[in-house]
Amino acid sequence: MKLSVKPFDLKLTTPFRISRHVQYTAANVLAQLTYEGVTGLGEAAPSEHYGEYRETVLATLKLLENELGDDPFALDAIFNRVNHVIRLNPSAKAALDMALYDLVGKLLNVPVYKLLGLNAAQTPLTSFTIGIDTPENMARKALAARDYPILKIKVGTPNDRANLKAIRAISNAVIRVDANTAWSPKEAVRAINELAEFDLEFVEQPVAPHDLAGLKYVREHVPLPIITDESSITVEDIPRVAECTDGINIKLMKCGGLYHALKMIHVARAHNLKIMIGCMIESSLAITAAAHLTPLIDYADLDGHLLVDDDPYTGVTVEQGKLILPEGPGLGVRERAAGM
Ligand code: MG
Repeated sequence: MKLSVKPFDLKLTTPFRISRHVQYTAANVLAQLTYEGVTGLGEAAPSEHYGEYRETVLATLKLLENELGDDPFALDAIFNRVNHVIRLNPSAKAALDMALYDLVGKLLNVPVYKLLGLNAAQTPLTSFTIGIDTPENMARKALAARDYPILKIKVGTPNDRANLKAIRAISNAVIRVDANTAWSPKEAVRAINELAEFDLEFVEQPVAPHDLAGLKYVREHVPLPIITDESSITVEDIPRVAECTDGINIKLMKCGGLYHALKMIHVARAHNLKIMIGCMIESSLAITAAAHLTPLIDYADLDGHLLVDDDPYTGVTVEQGKLILPEGPGLGVRERAAGM
C-alpha cells in the first residue's frame, strides 16, 4: 500500500467561538492510500487541545507509512502495529483508519455502513452548532439554521442566559448546550439550573476533563442529562466516566478512527450510556466517515462541513437534520465539482 498526504485548509463561514478559544480556519490533512490501483481517502483535523498540529500529523503519517504492510483487509493487525509504534496522535491515526475503510469498501464494492452490517435508514438527526457570539447574532444564526430541528448552542460565558433567551424567542428547535469545560462544579450546578428553563435536551461537558468527582456532583444536582466529550476520549476512559455521566460524545479525531469508535460504542452500551458522535471542523470526507457509524448511536453532531465555505468533498447530506448516507462504495465521498 502506498500512502500520500496533502495539507488542505478549510475556511469557516464565521469565526467559531467556544468557551476556551476561537477558530477561523482548520488546518487539515488529506491521506490517500493506494492499493492495486484503488485509492482510499482519509482526513485528519488535528486539535491543539489534544496535542496535535498539522505538522505532527504529517510527521506521524510519514512514520506510520512503513507499518501498513500489503493487506488492507488486515485492519486489526495494522491498527495494533500503528498503536505499538506511536501513542496518541489520534487524528493522524483517524486519517489512516478512514482511508483503510474507504479502500476496503471500494475493493469489495460496498458502502462502509454495509460492511459494518448497519441500516442506513437508522441514522439519527444531526444538530447544527452555534458558536458563542452576541445574543443578536446567535439568534440570527439560529434563524438561518431553521431547517435543522436540533441546535447545539455553545455556552460557558456570563451571557449564556441572554444568548439562550434570544435564541428561544425565535426558535422551537430541540436545544442542547455545550460548555466545553468552562465551569467549576458549583458554577455548573448554578448555571445549568438557571438555563434549564429554556427547555434543554442535555448539557455537554460542564467541567474540567479530569474532574470526575465534580462531574458526578453536577449530575446529581441538575435536572438535565450530562454528556461528556473532553472527559471521554478513548475506550479506556469509558469505565472511569460511566458513573458520572449519562452519555459520551465520540469523535474520530479523538479516538483514532472508525475502528476505535466502534469499540467505544460497544463498551459504552455495556455501561448503559447514551452515545453521541461529534466532530471537529472537518470536510465532508471525515464527516461522512463518522456518519457511517450513526445507525448505532443516539445523538449526532456532524455539522463541521456545514460551517465552512470551501468543503472540497461531497458525501453525507443533511435533509431537515436527517443524515443521508451516500450509496457509493467505501465512504461514498467524491471531490466536489466546481461551482457546487
Ligand atoms: Mg463538545
